[in-house]
Amino acid sequence: MSRSASIGGMEPMSTAELKPEGGLLAAGPAQLIARTAEAAAAADGVLALAKQGVRARVAEAGGVDAAQHAAHGLAWFATTVEALRQMNLWAARLNEEGSFGEIEQLLLLAAFAEYGAQIAGGIPMSQLEIIRPDALGIPRAAIRKYEDEIADIVAEGSSETLKARLAELIEHAQGATTFGNSGLDETMAAIHEQMRDFSEAEVVPHAHEWHLANAYIPIEIVNKVAELGVFGLTLPEEYGGLGLGKLAMCVVSEELSRGYIGVGSLGTRAEIAGELIHNNGTPEQKEKYLPKIATGEWLPTAVFTEPNTGSDLASLKTRAVKEGDVYKITGQKTWITHPVRADIMTVLTRTNPDEKGYKGLSMFIAEKPRGSDEDPFPAPGMTGGEIEVLGYRGMKEYDISFDAFEVPTENLLGGVEGQGFKQLMNTFEGARIQTAARAVGVAQCAMDLALKYALERNQFGKPIYKFPRVANKVVMMAVETMIARQLSYFAAREKDEGHRCDLEAGMAKLLGARVAWANADNALQIHGGNGFALEYPVSRVLCDARILNIFEGAAEIQAQVIARRLLEDK
Ligand SMILES: Cc1cc2nc3c(=O)[nH]c(=O)nc-3n(C[C@H](O)[C@H](O)[C@H](O)COP(=O)(O)OP(=O)(O)OC[C@H]3O[C@@H](n4cnc5c(N)ncnc54)[C@H](O)[C@@H]3O)c2cc1C
Repeated sequence: MSRSASIGGMEPMSTAELKPEGGLLAAGPAQLIARTAEAAAAADGVLALAKQGVRARVAEAGGVDAAQHAAHGLAWFATTVEALRQMNLWAARLNEEGSFGEIEQLLLLAAFAEYGAQIAGGIPMSQLEIIRPDALGIPRAAIRKYEDEIADIVAEGSSETLKARLAELIEHAQGATTFGNSGLDETMAAIHEQMRDFSEAEVVPHAHEWHLANAYIPIEIVNKVAELGVFGLTLPEEYGGLGLGKLAMCVVSEELSRGYIGVGSLGTRAEIAGELIHNNGTPEQKEKYLPKIATGEWLPTAVFTEPNTGSDLASLKTRAVKEGDVYKITGQKTWITHPVRADIMTVLTRTNPDEKGYKGLSMFIAEKPRGSDEDPFPAPGMTGGEIEVLGYRGMKEYDISFDAFEVPTENLLGGVEGQGFKQLMNTFEGARIQTAARAVGVAQCAMDLALKYALERNQFGKPIYKFPRVANKVVMMAVETMIARQLSYFAAREKDEGHRCDLEAGMAKLLGARVAWANADNALQIHGGNGFALEYPVSRVLCDARILNIFEGAAEIQAQVIARRLLEDK
């Protein structure tokens, strides 16, 4: 690294400054990894105390809802600890294969310094709600001991010298697929590159136009995404899919979302419908629908939410009444993405009105003709209107009213009533992992835009990137994006190995959404006034990032689910 490439406004640094004698970086990669493993174990010890503390608080308050701050804090705490553990394992794998280079070492150390310190000092569940050890009932002495245990990591990993060096490395890596080796094997890395090439050529040049015009992503792009195999990525080959796992889905979703969240989300409904039908459908339903979903010939839409029923889906009211060889569906749905161009709907309804909870719900695969802006739903018993949205455009969201809309009885998913909620819950792991990956893509996009602008924009006679407060933001974006990425890959690998991973998927989604929002917000800050102008893509990315904390389980619901699981475990 030449001296001239170092951060202006600070003295150029020497290797000795970056690696102080007796420091963690100077000790070499193996020592660094051993030390971060110790820090992860220390954090785990504090987590065990937090679990005890929160369990007592929940018991005293009379349930999770009455002690939500502490319970959700525990979820965030555990997510942070898991993130550190995964960063350590990522580093160890890279080191084994000889690819744990300087940028990866600095990312690791910075991650441990920041998240390690947050465990002792407070974790942001949102900008307004910081969860601190006291609120989790962790004894002060234990926190002081933990702080001592990680003091060297925090000091070296959060030093300005380290951040300045990372900023240099990031500057020189501009345009890279990832900042730091993401640890994918050759096949996955090739998929990543293929998606990046597609996205750079076909998506990035047009994404902002589509957003500003509130236009559909052109059907030619949808068809190209289909040709790439995205809609059948995880479906078995016997149904025309590629038979790949959730890790591949993560890589694809991440890279397409980096180009545009709308394109990265085209596959979401195929993934949900594909998994619903593959896991629960009758042989005839699988034969009929899966091959067409896999090729993209039939686009699905997911019809679950209602005006008064979002997070609490189990209490939904839309009715399906059996009359002869059809079910007649009547009720209001809302927030339905991409329904006009869809060919099939997975519709969650209540078939048993006497059963008010989830047991009364059934899922249908309902066919419908494609519509247009002028006539969105040219089907008897189905009407609807567009909901204009801040971001996440390109597929359009609709309110939909069903009035005796007919679905043949053979289209009841699995052929048995009352299974709908359970069937849907089984798809949540995959859907959340996919959303976590979309968040990583949006986070990476925000970082790309921030870095480019910071290097090009001059103030006070030099690029603003040369000011530490600007560069440090980009540095922390790189650190957190890698953390969120590793957590999403971890959840995907767990799923691919056939393990239950609702906890891991929830954690990946929870953290990914926060990171995407933080990156987008800070990328806009780096753009100054221009970031507030609609013509700058970062304005879109801010809007797109905002949705990730709301759908596929809002952040609070995600934390609730994680907390319940953690409190169940003894
Ligand atoms: C752009 C977009 C696209 C969407 N696409 C689809 C789609 O294709 N298909 C579909 O079916 N749905 C879709 N949705 C709906 C989405 O899944 C819901 O918006 C989401 O589940 C939240 O439900 P809600 O909006 O009713 O919010 P609410 O459930 O009313 O929640 C409002 C707030 O209260 C909080 N809250 C609720 N309950 C609790 C609790 N117990 N404890 C603590 N906090 C709580 C929530 O976290 C949230 O912050 C989409 C939504 C959007 C915005």
